[in-house]
Amino acid sequence: MSLLSLPVATLGTPRIGPRRELKVALEGYWAGRISEQQLLEDAAGLRAANWARQKSLGVTVIPSNDFSLYDQVLDTSVMVGAIPEVYASKAEPVSLKTYFAMARGSQYDGRGASCGHGSRGDGAPAQEMTKWFDTNYHYMVPEFHRGQTFRLSSRKPIDEYEEAKALGFQTRPVLIGPVTFLKLGKSADPAFQPLSLLDDLIQVYIEVLQELAKRGANWVQFDEPCLVLDLDEESRQSLLHAYDRLAKEGPAIKIMVASYFGGLGDNLPTALRLPVAGLHVDLVRAPALLDQIITAKRSDLVVSLGAIDGRNVWRTNLSALRQRLDPAIAKLGKDRIQIAPSCSLLHVPVDVELETELASDIKGWLAFSVQKIRELATLARALAGDQDVAGALAQSERVTTDRGTSPKIRDADVAIRMRAINQATRRRASPFASRAEIQRKRFKLPAFPTTTIGSFPQTAEVRNARAAHARGTMNDGQYDEFLKEETARAVRWQEDIGLDVLVHGEFERNDMVQYFGEQLAGFAFTKNGWVQSYGSRCVRPPILFGDVSRPKPITVGWWRYAQSLTKKPMKAMLTGPVTILNWSFVRDDIPRAEVCRQIALAIRDEVGDLENAGAAMIQIDEAALREGLPPRRSEWTAYLEWAGDCFRICSSGVADQTQIHTHMCYSEFNDIIDAIAAMDADVISIETSRSKMELLDAFRNYKYPNQIGPGVYDIHSPRVPESSEMKELVALARKRLQDSQLWINPDCGLKTRKWEEVRPALVNMVSAARELRAAS
Ligand code: GLN
Ligand code: ZN
Repeated sequence: MSLLSLPVATLGTPRIGPRRELKVALEGYWAGRISEQQLLEDAAGLRAANWARQKSLGVTVIPSNDFSLYDQVLDTSVMVGAIPEVYASKAEPVSLKTYFAMARGSQYDGRGASCGHGSRGDGAPAQEMTKWFDTNYHYMVPEFHRGQTFRLSSRKPIDEYEEAKALGFQTRPVLIGPVTFLKLGKSADPAFQPLSLLDDLIQVYIEVLQELAKRGANWVQFDEPCLVLDLDEESRQSLLHAYDRLAKEGPAIKIMVASYFGGLGDNLPTALRLPVAGLHVDLVRAPALLDQIITAKRSDLVVSLGAIDGRNVWRTNLSALRQRLDPAIAKLGKDRIQIAPSCSLLHVPVDVELETELASDIKGWLAFSVQKIRELATLARALAGDQDVAGALAQSERVTTDRGTSPKIRDADVAIRMRAINQATRRRASPFASRAEIQRKRFKLPAFPTTTIGSFPQTAEVRNARAAHARGTMNDGQYDEFLKEETARAVRWQEDIGLDVLVHGEFERNDMVQYFGEQLAGFAFTKNGWVQSYGSRCVRPPILFGDVSRPKPITVGWWRYAQSLTKKPMKAMLTGPVTILNWSFVRDDIPRAEVCRQIALAIRDEVGDLENAGAAMIQIDEAALREGLPPRRSEWTAYLEWAGDCFRICSSGVADQTQIHTHMCYSEFNDIIDAIAAMDADVISIETSRSKMELLDAFRNYKYPNQIGPGVYDIHSPRVPESSEMKELVALARKRLQDSQLWINPDCGLKTRKWEEVRPALVNMVSAARELRAAS
């Protein structure tokens, strides 16, 4: 490493391993194939490799405790002993069995449930899981209650610090800050404020800091991403109070408070008043923070400049970045600076070099974790005045120019179509009331029509066939035959049990975004570009690098085949533009809203072709619309406006008699109900079974006029609900909505379930609808 360099930090790195080694080890352990000992050894091996890799790439502030066997928020719950009674562990340190019971539920065996996340049944269910800010990473929601006390119940941060030290790495341990931790949690009693537990919690943090200091740690990183949210006065006071106490009562150890995923806005004064040694800021999402920090009167503060995008995969123009940062560094002073990514590198894949099948130009535009660390190291040297990196800087500038001028990213036809979007493109021919009447006459559906959300179980057989086809051991013809057979069986079965509106089952789809991305122009796919989604589950987000268009129909063939098997309406199934956007790595050279409109036009083409082929009902899923909401409320309107606009662009080209459905995998609509109404889908299906339909209040209060299918069957559980339970849920829905508005369907797609669960559940669902009809 060059002597002429500023300190380089990563804040955290991917822990799953370049080849998903952690996934293999975890799943091996859960399935009983490997021992606890082996799992722990494999995990230690990954950590050691990660530290060594960072060091060799030039990282000087190496993180520890950024690793996790499942989730860093769960680790924190366990560290402070926030372990709900159902997991009944009074033992310290908390056992792996308890840990995985919290992560995955404990019903099937001592190693945690074997049937995926969120299972309910006998034994303890898993803790609730939810999205980490606006990422696709999920954390386990901590649970708090009145009178709760905390105590050090896991030595993980201390052990991992020592482990690194023994290997020769001085590290900066990463902890979730106490305020963010409490704010991320929930309580069964809605009146209870978890922040009231702060003082007791701080005690545990002090203990951890003491243990770390004793062993030689001189810095720790406290992640407080809550600093980028809208905070009330109490939260701000809590932050000040927490760090005051840590400063006064904790050992002499320096704290770097890390904010990320946005700017500090009106929380800036609070952040600047924290009595800590360092502050990390996200300059990618909030470039203006740089000037705010320079003018801040905190000459004692070390500033960690989050300069390289930790949320996206494009190489940085280091030359331009250096020019931007140089004056700031001159003002702040070199000894007060650390160079870092905007946030932990957890959210990008490991190494572009593993991609052997990407087009070489596109590959050259990309930076995953390894490449980003190299960028950080180069930038840190450039900013320190090291001339030797001039070549690397020039090279990074060339890459940016190459990408910007590549014919691959631009499509003149797309530009023409984008300009032609007008009010007519985004409006159905007639208002909902008229459409509903036309559709009622066309479909003649019974009251409380029954349907499903789209997918049927992706059995081992289906997954094996897909893998065999990908490997080449099953040829196209055989694979096609196989899928046809699966589809036909699903259609026959739906007819047999008497569902009103059928689906083809989505057996041909690997993933609801990837399947479409693979057939749209403007997308590239990786072989190893995995990013952790939760636990051992990883996703490979498509890389959206250029103008998007649809060269040819994607779903029409499967729809036509499925419809040919039945006289009942066969609902066509598409993924919506906002969801495709939110689950991809998106080009950063044009606004996201514009990219989304391009996708919307491509999906509009598909909708049109489906309609021409005879599809009378077309569902456009927007599972990820809500998660794209910016961290700050003040930015919601703008997002919801273009997101809703995109939905209308893709769905409004059809005749009144064509019924547009949409589906969203959540039920909190209170704060976005206007935007949902503006989307004007004829039918929306949502997840409601676990909320006792209370969340339909948003629709009632709004007097939402269109049709709604509130989920009556919790598909996250293997449990088969009785028809009486479903009827009770419908009764609750009827208190809030007109009968004529209601559809009966499960919460979401059924791909993660087994046929043994799905069959009786849907039979019960159809009986529930029949009994309701008979009674009304
Ligand atoms: N149509 C998709 C399915 O049924 C919807 C999935 C989702 O919303 N996450 O699987
Ligand atoms: Zn869903």
